[in-house]
Order: sequence, then structure tokens, then C-alpha cells
Amino acid sequence: MAARPASLMPHDFAVVGSGVVGATLACLLVDAGASVVLIDGVARHPARDEPYDLRTYSLTPASRRILSAIGAWQRLDQARITAYHGMHVWDAQRRGAIDFDAADNGRPELGYIVELSNLQQALEGALHARRQLTMQPGLVETLLPAPEGISLQLGSGRGVTARVIAACDGGDSALRGLVGIDVEAREYAQQAVVANVRTAEPHGHVARQRFLADGPLAFLPLPDPHWCSVIWSTREDHAAHAVGQDDAGFCHALAAAFEHTLGEVLSTSRRLRFPLRWRHARQYSAERVVLVGDAAHLMHPLAGQGMNVGLLDAAVLAECADRAGPAALRYPRALLQRYERRRRGEVLMMLEATDRLSRLFTADNPALGWLRSAGLDLTNRLPPVKRLLMSHAMGDAGDLPEIARPARDAVPL
Ligand SMILES: Cc1cc2nc3c(=O)[nH]c(=O)nc-3n(C[C@H](O)[C@H](O)[C@H](O)COP(=O)(O)OP(=O)(O)OC[C@H]3O[C@@H](n4cnc5c(N)ncnc54)[C@H](O)[C@@H]3O)c2cc1C
Repeated sequence: MAARPASLMPHDFAVVGSGVVGATLACLLVDAGASVVLIDGVARHPARDEPYDLRTYSLTPASRRILSAIGAWQRLDQARITAYHGMHVWDAQRRGAIDFDAADNGRPELGYIVELSNLQQALEGALHARRQLTMQPGLVETLLPAPEGISLQLGSGRGVTARVIAACDGGDSALRGLVGIDVEAREYAQQAVVANVRTAEPHGHVARQRFLADGPLAFLPLPDPHWCSVIWSTREDHAAHAVGQDDAGFCHALAAAFEHTLGEVLSTSRRLRFPLRWRHARQYSAERVVLVGDAAHLMHPLAGQGMNVGLLDAAVLAECADRAGPAALRYPRALLQRYERRRRGEVLMMLEATDRLSRLFTADNPALGWLRSAGLDLTNRLPPVKRLLMSHAMGDAGDLPEIARPARDAVPL
């Protein structure tokens, strides 16, 4: 990509937002030879004051490959990653259930539970290892046209110019608003309560999710065999109650809601709650600004896919930029459209799948209830359909960027 001899030259890319998606994109673009400035106004890793972070993520093998390609996976504290090989999902209102086993796809694991602070520290190491990368603290407040690019005005009064701006500034993306990109929005009358809990029975490295009438309740395995990360999507009033409730009351209610599948819940961390929203940008780019990660799409966390999808966005954008070469950045419209063509359908499929699943399981229509339970049981007895679902959930299917593709020794579908 373009050499950048003079300080007056615009950067090839300004990546705005150094969350997991923005930090990964910045590394990938630097590796593709681009001059990159990474802008964020927030200090990255919070101090850990409990045995495990309250923010944990289920990452797919595809995300692992992307993070490995930038040297971040290798920097993770490996003792704090939990690989899980099985998944059990069941319907609380009927008896339908489905089980997934990584071995059915010829894999040792389905995914990994990783704490946010572990990810942030690893990414920070990967960013600092790239000496060509410019880090600029500050919040972007305004965009101004500039010769051969766009100038970003930061709250600090500083300005940064780049040919392409990658907006990785999250679900409430200010940049998306600044360039006038509208979103399609759907609401869930739900919030997610997150907590880490100790259970009487060991989790056995299996991720479990029970679909209740008010929303799904997931127990995800942590490194200690008796600790799980809980994500309980539920009515807003119930979420407020669960967060404010005393620990004993919460443990009791949680164990009952989970049918005592892992026995009693013996202790809990404090609880946090997050609003759940569905958003999809009507276009992924305007002018020289391109949306990546949550800035382009927000989805229900029931399938644990938001960050995984964002990492695939980052890898595809970096691949498109690398293939197009430096000249493409002078007039980047074609490059940004290519990115959107490759991502939009894939993202929409995941957005629709998670939205429909969420609505299907909260519907109280008896016919739908029968259908979803029968559907779960039937799918459970159809290994090819299960393998297909699993390969999507593992990020192994679809139009994958080169660095995210599964190894050739994987079992073909
Ligand atoms: C309860 C819950 C559970 C989830 N579990 C999973 C899971 O298991 N697996 C999964 O894949 N996904 C999961 N997700 C989704 C996941 O959290 C998001 O998809 C992911 O964090 C998005 O990352 P991002 O980098 O795009 O955005 P963010 O993490 O929101 O980062 C945005 C960054 O932009 C910066 N920023 C914002 N505005 C500006 C500005 N004006 N100027 C400069 N910088 C700015 C912010 O400081 C921040 O650092 C879950 C979500 C929820 C709510």
C-alpha cells in the first residue's frame, strides 16, 4: 500500500474505535501494508476485581483463526480460555432439545469462552507490536472534507486525515450518524443479565441454553469446572429485579429457571444488565466512511455471534483493501462496495436467524410451541442438518476471508 513519507499526507485508514473489532482491523490493515491511525477515547482494560470478568465472549474457531493471524490469540492468557466441545439447547415450554458435539464435525471444540480483559490485553500487545501503527487518543466529534480524504476532528481539538474511515465505534456509532446512514431497527422488550456463578455440578465443558418464555438463559463454561458465565435474557422488569436481588435469592431463582441442570447455584458475582437491540445499517458505507462490527449491525446475543460477525467484517475489509491495492484508496467507492457485497448477505442471515429464534421461543402460540419443539427434535435426528447448523455457528461456512478458513483436514459437509 501507499508509502507515507510526509506527515501532511493522509493516512490510508483511520480506524475509529479500538474495541475488539477495531483493534483487530487496525492490525490486519497494518499487516496489509496500509498506514493506519487507530482512534479511541476510552482506556481499554478494566481492573479485574472478581475471579472472572463479567463480560465474557463465546468466540468461534473462525475468530480464533483471525486473532491468531494478528498474533493476538497467542498473547491470550491460555489458562483463562475455556474450550467447549458440546452444546445442549432445550425448550422450557415443551420437551424439544438439540445437542451438538464438536466431534460430529471432526473438531476438538465448538468454540471458546474468553474474558474481555484477556482479549483486550492480548490485542493491546498485538497493537504495540506494530510500530507502524499510530495510536491517537480522543473521541471523534466531526468529519470535514479534505483533499484526498476526510478530516476527523477530535474532542481534544486535534485533527486527523485519512483516505478511508473505518467506523468501529459500536452500536451507537457516532460516525454512522455523521455520514447520515440510517438503520433498520427492531426492539426486544428484554435485557440481558450477566453474572458468573458457581454450581454444584461441573459443567463438563458444555455450553447450555434453556429457552424460557421470557427469553433464553445460557450457562457458558469457565476455566474452573464449577464456574459458569450466565447470560439471562429476560423481561426488563425481571432483569431489574435480578440485578437488585440479594445473592441467595438470585441463586435460588437462577437454579430453578435452569431446571437445576447443574444442581444448585452456590454463589454468584454481582450482576450487570444490558439492553438488547436489533439494528442493521441500510448501507455499509457513505463517502469514505465504512461501517464495521456493531456500528453496522447489532443482534440478540442468544447465539453469541455479534463479535464473531464483526471480526469477519474486519477480515473481509482488510482482504478487500489488500487485493485492491493502494491506488483504490484514492477513490475507494468500488472497494467499499465490494466489502458490502461480501458482508451484507452473510450478516443479514445471522441477524434474521437470531431474531427469528428469539421470537419463536418467546411466542406463546401453542401451534408455534409444538412446531419449535418438533423442529428441535427433528433437527437433532438429522446429522447433515446439524452439521450444517454447526458449521455456521462455528464461523466455518459462507464467503470466508482467507485467514478465517478452516484447515483442509476438516470433515467436509
Ligand atoms: C449480553 C451480551 C453478550 C454477548 N455475548 C457475545 C458472545 O458471546 N459472542 C459474540 O461474538 N458476541 C457477543 N456479544 C456481542 C458483542 O458484545 C459485540 O458484538 C462486540 O462487543 C462489538 O464490538 P465492536 O468492537 O464492534 O464495538 P464496541 O465493543 O462497542 O467498541 C466500540 C469502541 O468505539 C469507541 N468509540 C465509540 N465512539 C467513539 C468516537 N466517537 N470516537 C472514538 N472512539 C469511539 C468506544 O470507546 C469503544 O472502544 C454480546 C453482547 C451482549 C450485549
